[in-house]
Amino acid sequence: MITVEDLHKHFGGFHAVDGASLTIEAGSITGLIGPNGAGKTTLFNVIAGVLEPTSGRVFMDGEDITGLPPHTLFHKGLLRTFQIAHEFGSMTCRENLMMVPGDQAGERLWDTWFGRKRIANEERALKAKADEVMEFLTIEHIADLRAGQVSGGQKKLLELGRTMMVDAKIVFLDEVGAGVNRTLLYTIADAIKRLNEERGYTFVVIEHDMDFIERLCDPVICMAEGAVLAEGTLAEIKANEHVIEAYLGT
Ligand code: ADP
Repeated sequence: MITVEDLHKHFGGFHAVDGASLTIEAGSITGLIGPNGAGKTTLFNVIAGVLEPTSGRVFMDGEDITGLPPHTLFHKGLLRTFQIAHEFGSMTCRENLMMVPGDQAGERLWDTWFGRKRIANEERALKAKADEVMEFLTIEHIADLRAGQVSGGQKKLLELGRTMMVDAKIVFLDEVGAGVNRTLLYTIADAIKRLNEERGYTFVVIEHDMDFIERLCDPVICMAEGAVLAEGTLAEIKANEHVIEAYLGT
């Protein structure tokens, strides 16, 4: 689904991504691991259009998507999750989900004057969709709470929920497990697995928790110093001497 060819991202003289090449198979849950500073987040940001690459190419289903902005990629079904922005913390969790699909009738001036019925219908459909998403993620009980009040793990589920409000094909998740308790971590893992199996989502997951990676990811790609060091099952990666060296060197 995604092919990355010889990607480079330099910050001044520093090569954060330094010749990374990889493929992501449709239907997979691919894990991206590697020591801190390996370039994982930068790679994500370049693929998702948040950063422009210095050189190299990214393809999605054979189409060159290098340097396309996030909103264009969003419409192609490529999404990167982001933390719920501080300014949306005072909105309810349901409202945070309802905001996701852009271009709603209510946002168009003409419709705010003449299309009240259409706006009402659209809002009803969005609310139903948001409720369905929260039920899938087993977070119906937080629907009316302000997003700023819920726990770290619930926020992560909400971030995942945002991808379900549109027709995502491939979702990039950056450190879903950071600061999340074990029970919620497994709920998140379960939601990812069900989205993959039941809705055909492809996932790429950056995660430090090896238990989480082991439950969920095949294959696993290990990066170090801006490039791909190894790829395989987690067991193969763990036994790879270059990987061991890279982790010990940090
Ligand atoms: P990882 O996600 O694997 O920990 P990152 O992609 O976050 O690695 O970072 C890779 C390297 O690039 C790090 O050394 C980091 O300090 C550097 N880096 C990331 N973003 C920037 C930036 N905007 N400006 C300068 N250096 C950056």
